[in-house]
Amino acid sequence: MREVIVPILHSEELALLAGDLKPVDLGAGHNEARDLVVRKGKADGREHAVAVFMDGRSVEFGGSHSDRLKVPEFENASGIVVVHHNHPLGDSLSRQDLLLLLTRADISRIDAHGHRGGWFSAERSGKARTLLEARAAVDDAFAQIRTAIVKAVKQGEVDEARTRAGLWQVAMALLMTKQGQIQYSANTDSVLDMAKRVLRWRIDR
Ligand SMILES: [Zn+2]
Repeated sequence: MREVIVPILHSEELALLAGDLKPVDLGAGHNEARDLVVRKGKADGREHAVAVFMDGRSVEFGGSHSDRLKVPEFENASGIVVVHHNHPLGDSLSRQDLLLLLTRADISRIDAHGHRGGWFSAERSGKARTLLEARAAVDDAFAQIRTAIVKAVKQGEVDEARTRAGLWQVAMALLMTKQGQIQYSANTDSVLDMAKRVLRWRIDR
């Protein structure tokens, strides 16, 4: 069997290829948090995080792994903490990030920042859920997107090189937005459009 090497294009790279990453002003406290995690991430290649509270306080954590983050529990912070972290490879929010957002009552929003200007953010709609419920929701969205991507590639709607994690993570977050579970944003219209085209190939259930 001939092996086809398909390059992995991360969410941020897809946007860079399209040349449409827009600068975002996240507001006081949040811009600084983004700049800090990106600066630290560029220096050591690891994931760093800053939690920003509603009153402007912030707490730094992370920095021990390149692909994951241990998020401490924030006391007296019911649904008000925004977690900013960097993704060294420039991907959108991972399944782990979405699970965290769906299950943690203290966290209202999670932002992932690429090192070259990519911004991917999700806010939870409604209350936090149990890990079991959240896992079911995330796994279901993942399965629907996987099927949709296979179809979209077959039909020539998207090119296979662009369907790796970079795209399915965005498509998944868009699907969960459509389902009313989260509110997703990213600073690249081209990648959001590509993900929307993938969504059209999903079987409605
Ligand atoms: Zn993450």
